[in-house]
Amino acid sequence: MLDYLIVGSGLAGISFAEIALKNNKSILVVDNMSQVSSRVAGGFYNPVILKRFSEVWNAQEQLILMDEFYDRIEEKLHRKFNYKLPILRKFFSIEEQNNWFAASDKINLAPFLSTKLISKKYSGIDSPYDYGEVLHTGYVDTMLLLDTYRDYLKKNNLILEQSFDWAYIEFLDFGIQYKNIQARNIIFAEGFGLHKNPFFNYLPLDGTKGEMFIIKAPDLDLDVIINTSVFILPLGNDLFKVGATYNWQDKTDLPTEEGKQELIDRIKEIVACDFEIVEHYGGVRPTVKDRRPLIGTHEEFKSLHILNGLGTRGVMLGPAMAKALYDYIEDEIPLTREIDIKRFHKKYLKSLTSDRP
Ligand SMILES: Cc1cc2nc3c(=O)[nH]c(=O)nc-3n(C[C@H](O)[C@H](O)[C@H](O)COP(=O)(O)OP(=O)(O)OC[C@H]3O[C@@H](n4cnc5c(N)ncnc54)[C@H](O)[C@@H]3O)c2cc1C
Repeated sequence: MLDYLIVGSGLAGISFAEIALKNNKSILVVDNMSQVSSRVAGGFYNPVILKRFSEVWNAQEQLILMDEFYDRIEEKLHRKFNYKLPILRKFFSIEEQNNWFAASDKINLAPFLSTKLISKKYSGIDSPYDYGEVLHTGYVDTMLLLDTYRDYLKKNNLILEQSFDWAYIEFLDFGIQYKNIQARNIIFAEGFGLHKNPFFNYLPLDGTKGEMFIIKAPDLDLDVIINTSVFILPLGNDLFKVGATYNWQDKTDLPTEEGKQELIDRIKEIVACDFEIVEHYGGVRPTVKDRRPLIGTHEEFKSLHILNGLGTRGVMLGPAMAKALYDYIEDEIPLTREIDIKRFHKKYLKSLTSDRP
């Protein structure tokens, strides 16, 4: 009998796969490539929400677990995925500079906001009011990471490339039977695909579409990530990733004209040189109304677990949430109320009176 059948090989699924393998558990992953959020992500991590000048919830702990996770995976797969790069906030006025310094005085933000103004000039960007630097930032090449990890799973016969069909789950005394597979546990890490999962689709997973560009801008010279209303991330060879939009209505992965125009307008606010759009893509972030992950065990079927709701921050949150769920299942270490799906107990009870398995 397998220890874990994992549905989904996005950032959530591979974070759980890794922690299980590290603990010598047996796993099998199922994925049908129906969601692309982790693949198209900007991939950057930043412990500060710059728009509101607040610390990302539990940022310190997440950064530590994230570094451990990506270091281990780089060593195991012999590839580099995690690049430590400064994020610079471009200031548009003296007032914005002042707000930055006021924020950097706050005890929880002080470790992350440098108090030194960065006055370096980058060709292609006018910056009369300089930049502020966020510390402990960088980006993960998520596309390369997921492709490499998938290859690793394939080589070791640890992945089934097919759709998971919940109708085939049968419950045993100490686990489940799925087709010809027996497992102690199933981890559902389906991202926005959760909506089709009849066991957990009572949870309020909202979904926020994001669109991104890869642009070519030979006159733009950057060795840092610039963040304002969009971020610009240097990829080398005059290529830059730029994103992202936020759309709460459209739940498809398709690039749109509206998204394209918005990104072009935003780029022009920052960049003063010509650029060409090389790629344009979209994905749906698995966001939750209360902005906290969805972690836990099904109230009735104790072999079914969920690892979802990583929202806009899968790179930082994935490893920490996978560890929280693993520790909960294996060592009964309680989940904090903020992330535990039990906070939606009333919705679960309500779902019992409607159509469900
Ligand atoms: C445009 C954009 C930019 C972003 N930028 C950033 C960023 O810069 N930094 C950051 O941290 N986060 C970013 N995010 C958010 C980040 O991508 C998400 O938090 C993260 O990808 C969620 O990972 P996940 O594994 O939960 O979901 P997903 O990546 O959606 O993975 C779910 C997986 O489950 C599989 N699946 C679903 N249903 C089934 C089924 N029935 N059978 C088989 N397989 C199934 C899917 O194929 C998919 O592989 C961005 C997202 C978008 C869309």
